[in-house]
Amino acid sequence: MSDIIQLLPDHVANQIAAGEVVQRPASVVKELLENAIDAGATQVNLLIKDAGKTLIQVADNGSGMSTTDARLCFERHATSKIKQAEDLFNLNTKGFRGEALASIAAIAHVDLKTKPETAEVGTHIKIHGSELITQEVCVTPTGTIISVKNLFYNIPARRNFLKSNNVEIRHIIDEFQRVALAHPQIGFSLHHNGNELFQLSSSSYRQRIVAVFGGKTNEKLVPVEEDTELVKLSGFVGKPEFAKKSRGEQFFFVNHRFIKSPYLNHAVQAAYEGLLKDKTHPSYFLYLEIDASRIDINIHPTKTEIKFDDEHALYAILRSAIKHSLGQFSVAPVLDFDKDPTLETPYSFKEKQVSQPAIEVDRNFNPFEAETKQHVKSGRGNASSIPNSFKKNSQTWEALYTGISDENEVPTIELESEEVTGSLFTEETLAVKEHLDIFQLHKKYIISSTKTGLLIIDQYRAHTRILYEQLLINITQAPALSQQLLFPLNLSFSAQEVEVLSALKDSLEQIGLIFSLLEKDNIEIVGIPTLISESETQILLEQLLADFSLEIPESGFTQTDVLAKSLAKSMAVRAGTVLNIEEQQHLVNQLFACKEPQVNPFGKKIYSMLTSTDLDKKFM
Ligand code: ADP
Ligand code: MG
Repeated sequence: MSDIIQLLPDHVANQIAAGEVVQRPASVVKELLENAIDAGATQVNLLIKDAGKTLIQVADNGSGMSTTDARLCFERHATSKIKQAEDLFNLNTKGFRGEALASIAAIAHVDLKTKPETAEVGTHIKIHGSELITQEVCVTPTGTIISVKNLFYNIPARRNFLKSNNVEIRHIIDEFQRVALAHPQIGFSLHHNGNELFQLSSSSYRQRIVAVFGGKTNEKLVPVEEDTELVKLSGFVGKPEFAKKSRGEQFFFVNHRFIKSPYLNHAVQAAYEGLLKDKTHPSYFLYLEIDASRIDINIHPTKTEIKFDDEHALYAILRSAIKHSLGQFSVAPVLDFDKDPTLETPYSFKEKQVSQPAIEVDRNFNPFEAETKQHVKSGRGNASSIPNSFKKNSQTWEALYTGISDENEVPTIELESEEVTGSLFTEETLAVKEHLDIFQLHKKYIISSTKTGLLIIDQYRAHTRILYEQLLINITQAPALSQQLLFPLNLSFSAQEVEVLSALKDSLEQIGLIFSLLEKDNIEIVGIPTLISESETQILLEQLLADFSLEIPESGFTQTDVLAKSLAKSMAVRAGTVLNIEEQQHLVNQLFACKEPQVNPFGKKIYSMLTSTDLDKKFM
């Protein structure tokens, strides 16, 4: 048999290797930014077109490269950063494998201009898919400008696999922020399709965090400082009252490199013990400096995990240092630990006057009659003001009641032994009893009697379903009314969050949220949905951002669905809200006019039936 093994040609090997280093445009961004930092740059400018699919350009004022180096840097295992294996144990650069540029050049059109300080003129090199196209002398400033165009042009499968521009730019912003936060002394800028997303000048750590996440971040930060033999810890943690539902702003940097560590994250979370509201996550920006020999740096270039020699000790140090800081800045007593979450001031009912459900008795009032007879109050922020644009599709609903609402008589529970026990009831309790056909239990359930028994409805889930279907209609067909604000509402979100909001802007306007300005650090809202109050707008948007976890789904359908679910969940009346009879009635009517009254948008059961047979069984 003839020999069949061959060595792969370099460009094929590079293309294969590229798959590991370059998963998406953001991976290129990371490698190029890191190279600029390794080259000692003090200013790094990143330019992106079409979320990196068309162009990723990094310009730095670092060391630049000689003509020979400019050619060599695209070879595999070509690096200036290590010379021998021992160097691996004392590594202070981001890169060291000499793989990134070779990989990137294998799968894109790369254009490099570079000049070291000592040279008069620079080198201009073009490489397409590992193949040198041109090399010429050029005039260029000291430093390096590297442009990566048409990423994956020769691997269509990979190119087609890329996500929408919204998703890809999000990943790029993520990488950019990580690098920018790790190196506040370096100036960075980021432009996308001609828009400036970040312009960060050389600053302190605190200033950099504020510059990246917006002006309001400053007041939220508590400094952390600890110097031990094992680790030098510095940075900031967020005050507990600003903890968010999303895990967005959580950063560990080890020796100026962003890392993820669920274990250390746990240490931080532990330091906040008892200080956080349920399911919220504190922000943190923690910088650890550890002797390079005590960590395993031989990790995969695209991975963000890291191995420490003594993780356990690190955990303890982190936890106690943060605890100490939180205590020192006396942020601890701000929260009310005993607060029952189910009794939290409900969303739409914050400003509502509490009304007692059963005191005002109208003996002729029949909640099962046509809606025209109902005393539907209208007013902002209560259940009755749910836009009543549902078509009555109430056969199913009314069927539950046939037989009892015919006479103009309010049905009461028939007790077999009425005559005997009758004397036990006072006039007053009897009056209340007569109204038992609909009432609220524990400010949470609406109980209603039906032809065959009892209907028990979870008010929050019911309202969520109603709002969800209404919002879907608003977003896709008929825009909702918006209440104009007397003074525009100014809110502050991070650039990344603003990107998500911008992507959702059209849909948000359909539901009544009108932006007059939507840019970083400057969001101005001039109209809000009629169901929420001005003060609730921020929470609503935060919840929304958490639900999108900073990714905009590809399909418009999923996007609308996530949006409607998130808003419905925020706007619905919570358990703990007292509803008056009309509101209870209205909620029930609206629920059964819904397309799917059985389950809330998250698939949870909304109501349960207790038939008289069920009841009879209880008395056997
Ligand atoms: P690594 O960073 O692992 O060494 P790369 O493929 O990223 O490998 O880069 C190869 C080499 O090219 C680097 O070691 C460095 O000498 C040089 N280089 C890359 N980018 C720059 C830059 N922006 N400025 C100066 N030199 C650079
Ligand atoms: Mg590198």
